[in-house]
Amino acid sequence: MNKIDRFVVPAPAPVVLPVVGSDLGFPVRRVYCVGRNYVAHIREMGGDEARDPPVFFQKPADSIVHDGATIPYPSLSQNYHHELELVVALKSGGRDIPADKALDHVYGYGIGLDMTRRDLQKRLSDAGLPWEDSKSFDHSCPCGPLHPVEEVGHVSSGAIRLTVNGETRQDSDVSLLIWKIPEIIANLSQAYELFPGDIILTGTPHGVGPVQAGDVLVGTIDKLGSLTVRIGPQR
Ligand code: MN
Repeated sequence: MNKIDRFVVPAPAPVVLPVVGSDLGFPVRRVYCVGRNYVAHIREMGGDEARDPPVFFQKPADSIVHDGATIPYPSLSQNYHHELELVVALKSGGRDIPADKALDHVYGYGIGLDMTRRDLQKRLSDAGLPWEDSKSFDHSCPCGPLHPVEEVGHVSSGAIRLTVNGETRQDSDVSLLIWKIPEIIANLSQAYELFPGDIILTGTPHGVGPVQAGDVLVGTIDKLGSLTVRIGPQR
């Protein structure tokens, strides 16, 4: 069989995350996100804290932007929110992965932002429509470099904090995740076959809120360094 390696339009560039301490990159296949995974965030969004099954959605891999980027304030929103999240990167995958084997599939951890058009999310949700356009737009997934498990171990606790222009907005602990990382991987692998290169944003703690053009966001998670993003003018 002839392998087709020339294209009728320019081929998209692969999406790669840097790896701390390595010249090699982590190629991103899919970006999965978990909704409603810290009780205090569910409360601030007006929900109750019942342990419902985890809610999953995706962002396109090419919505990833790297540490230090300036991202435009998005179109279609006047209420653009930050959601700081722990990122889990997979080195292997499968279907129906048992929770007690799930951590064997983790390559490493990082820091991500699930940037959200909050006003559009509410309008779409209230209308019973999918809220894809509020979550999965261009530049909506700032993501810092990955820290391999062999360097930092597995991350199940530690401070997770976001400042905007130096003022603390989100301040919680990864131990407060409702669905823990092994449970997230187990549940996700029942819905999708997982592969090396998949990353998962594990949900945001409370304190989400709006940002404006010119703001500088700095997210930190214990052992995982920091992620800095500046908001540019609206396109
Ligand atoms: Mn989120």
